[in-house]
Amino acid sequence: MEIYRVKPGSRVDLDTCDTRDTSGFDGDKSEGKKELKKLTARLEELQELLYAEGKQKLLIILQAMDTGGKDGVIRHVFDGVNPQGVKVANFKVPTAEELSHDYLWRVHKQTPGRGEIVIFNRSHYEDVLVVRVHNLVPPEVWQRRYDHINAFEQLLAEEGTTILKFFLHISKDEQRERLESRRDEPHKQWKFNVGDLKERKLWGDYTAAYEDALSKTSTEWAPWYVVPADRKWYRNLVIGTTLVETLERFDMRYPPAAENLDEVVVE
Ligand code: AMP
Ligand code: MG
Repeated sequence: MEIYRVKPGSRVDLDTCDTRDTSGFDGDKSEGKKELKKLTARLEELQELLYAEGKQKLLIILQAMDTGGKDGVIRHVFDGVNPQGVKVANFKVPTAEELSHDYLWRVHKQTPGRGEIVIFNRSHYEDVLVVRVHNLVPPEVWQRRYDHINAFEQLLAEEGTTILKFFLHISKDEQRERLESRRDEPHKQWKFNVGDLKERKLWGDYTAAYEDALSKTSTEWAPWYVVPADRKWYRNLVIGTTLVETLERFDMRYPPAAENLDEVVVE
């Protein structure tokens, strides 16, 4: 899955990243789903260990165009983890109080503590994406944010947080299909937001903003992965595999038993 990692300093061109790619897996959709089951089972064990050990902190950042699949990843990849120790933080349009502070204020307090996994559903990257596309602040203000973001993420990493960032990359055609099914299928209509149609018209501007963000903020300490996301099963597989591999590298241990436990009698 390292093929999807953006090498620090390289320039991302999203047009050349195939949104339907499945080359990191030797199998079809049904095999992919079986593989995901194994991964989610392993993720469940690793998360339990992370929580029990209480040392490591894992931050997962999800970004995508509308309908890109952030909610689906949270539902399918984290299927089975213990809600104790895993938290989702959603970043919506900032409140008046949030806007009265710097843009990282609301973000920093949601970062994981020891033994925790936190998933960011949107993030501080909105402050160089939607904010840039809609001119919510002048260019000189958002332009300097890439440096802030790299420094902020470096601070988190140096203080013991492992950071993984996933851009779920869908094509514009795939987005049309997903918006149409949100419009037409009763159990999806609650997700249909007419505002998304306006954002869709700005596809090119968002693409340029994403390309800059991915290029400028993929670092050794907080890498971006551009995940082919037109095929949901494959998207889940890429993220599940990357998470399991990352957690395996933590080399975690259950805390040792208290001394003389073998002499303890439970009456
Ligand atoms: P959703 O994720 O569909 O619930 O929508 C949340 C909305 O909040 C999206 O349209 C985001 O672009 C918007 N949003 C998130 N963060 C910011 C921000 N910092 N400034 C402006 N809009 C934001
Ligand atoms: Mg939305």
